[in-house]
Amino acid sequence: MKRRRGSANEASRLAKRAGQATLVLIKPDAIQRGLTGHVLARLDEARLSMIGAKIVRVTRALAEEHYDALRDKPFFPDLIRHLCGELHGVDHVLAFVYAGPGAIAKVRQLAGATNPEAAEPASIRGAFGRMTTGGIMENVLHASSDEQEAVREIALWFRPEELLRPVPFLTSGAVGRSPKGTR
Ligand code: UDP
Ligand code: MG
Repeated sequence: MKRRRGSANEASRLAKRAGQATLVLIKPDAIQRGLTGHVLARLDEARLSMIGAKIVRVTRALAEEHYDALRDKPFFPDLIRHLCGELHGVDHVLAFVYAGPGAIAKVRQLAGATNPEAAEPASIRGAFGRMTTGGIMENVLHASSDEQEAVREIALWFRPEELLRPVPFLTSGAVGRSPKGTR
């Protein structure tokens, strides 16, 4: 039998692909060093749509929730101080949501490896990141690593009405509201 065009599964797969979204944070080390424009120019290369943008003073609660999965890592205290800007004398980060097909992988590819010393020299982290002598990874930006993380993080940093268009699953109840006072 001939397959029906536009089956529900196919439609949902396409909607998911077209609507994939990812969170980007320009971290305090990049803000301090005046790298915002450079980073945004590099992210433009992915030809994605920017559907959310804001400047955020990062509370400890927001930083800890953002990096919740890393709570038991030895570098967690420094990581939180870093994201809160305490290591760079900065009181904010910039947060963006980019959407489009393959958005998560495209932004991760442009960002490069977590450790700036291991990152491709042509990547954002490879070009602009560094390890400090104190061992802090100044890796310029955060980029969501998978779809589950992206949805959780976008819900943590943005209210639905702050986005130009809905992000799939964000309003479905699959993701909990951000903890009180974190955004
Ligand atoms: N990080 C660190 N030391 C490590 C691993 C990670 O300081 O050995 C920091 C770094 O800032 C990194 C963040 O923790 O960006 C989150 O770690 P993750 O493994 O999720 O890396 P990412 O997704 O940012 O590439
Ligand atoms: Mg990560």
